[in-house]
Amino acid sequence: MHQFKYHQGTLHCEGVNLQTLAQDHGTPLYVYSSQTLRDNYERLNKALGDLDHHIAFAVKANSNLSVLNLLAELGSGFDIVSGGELFRVIKAGGDPGRCSFAGVGKTAEEITYALEQGIYCFNIESLAELEFINRVAESLSRTAPVAVRINPNVDAQTHKYISTGKAENKFGIDYEETMRVYERASKLPHISIRGIQMHIGSQLTNVSPFVEAVKRVIPLVQELQHKYGIEFFSIGGGIGIVYEEALASGPSSWWSEHENPPLSPDVYARELVPLLELLKMKIVLEPGRYMSGNAGVLLASCLYEKKGSAKTFKIVDAGMNDLIRPALYEGHHEIVPIFERQSENTVLGDVVGPICESGDFFCQDRRIADFQQGDLIALMSAGAYSFTMASNYNSRPLPAEILVDGTECSIARKRQQWSDLISGEL
Ligand SMILES: *Cc1c(COP(=O)(O)O)cnc(C)c1O
Repeated sequence: MHQFKYHQGTLHCEGVNLQTLAQDHGTPLYVYSSQTLRDNYERLNKALGDLDHHIAFAVKANSNLSVLNLLAELGSGFDIVSGGELFRVIKAGGDPGRCSFAGVGKTAEEITYALEQGIYCFNIESLAELEFINRVAESLSRTAPVAVRINPNVDAQTHKYISTGKAENKFGIDYEETMRVYERASKLPHISIRGIQMHIGSQLTNVSPFVEAVKRVIPLVQELQHKYGIEFFSIGGGIGIVYEEALASGPSSWWSEHENPPLSPDVYARELVPLLELLKMKIVLEPGRYMSGNAGVLLASCLYEKKGSAKTFKIVDAGMNDLIRPALYEGHHEIVPIFERQSENTVLGDVVGPICESGDFFCQDRRIADFQQGDLIALMSAGAYSFTMASNYNSRPLPAEILVDGTECSIARKRQQWSDLISGEL
């Protein structure tokens, strides 16, 4: 469910006409819906009901200050993977005491900053990291709260680049090793054991890998509760969203209420809450994509059409530097015209950007609206892992980001200028 819909033939975000927005701010342009973010947060919160839980948004999905501020005001905590993300959360008014720090390569500088800011927990990914955090904490005369990230060795049934919970992935500590790491942690004077964490992958569209992983880890959680009095179990993020809509159902229903998520918060909660509530401890969730993925779009305009001997290419003014998911891991984005009537004529073709890479495409051999030079399109579901992965490749300035709330819109980030490209260079 999201708030991007055709209204009187033109695509809107909530009460704002996207054609007007593109005229006012130019393209490529990221647009986010406040109401969709709120709805996603509340739906998950409500589905979990009375379970003692804490939602921590995975900042790497969308780290814009306005988005983080909106989520902080809803009561969200944050899952961070770098010192820079913690800096953003604090600047956005988030509470460091509700931040967990994940990632396999935390540096001394980052650990120091996180300790000084009083974060909730470090999620440890190796024995060497545990020893190092203990030393940094000692040098600051502090104690670092930790959880061990366990790798439950389950198949998340997702793209191999976004699977994290198999033994061959770099993430987490093997099940068999975990107890030994806790034993070591219990002997380190500047470490306090606070919880246990796992995260098996991203864009999961089936609840069964979550159930399998939770069932596998619960006996260990109980043992840790008994031995070390841990206070939380984080089950990570990973709830998938709908990227692909059935074209057959007709253009006006592409982005309608018919969306039937493969994994809704209700299904997720129905399967997991009965297992988790028996633990009688705080359950942490770290959704990223679920929260912001369908709350954003990337607007682009068509520069040229090029009919090659083998294919038709629609060349647009957004490129893989703005949105890399299709090139990076075959991510799918629906591509719709801003004017609904343009979806009546379709053509088989590729939508590509201006970057000098063959991987610079948004779709290949797809039946798309036959939009033409000057026409506006929206790349849907671009609210997660989209702007955050954007770069200046080909010396292209980063697009602006707009946050819509009802009929209001605010510039959440200014478009970069050419001068920004060289700032800092000598
Ligand atoms: C990336 C990440 C998440 C969020 O994953 P989503 O698939 O976006 O929900 C949660 N926890 C950790 C540790 C992560 O690295």
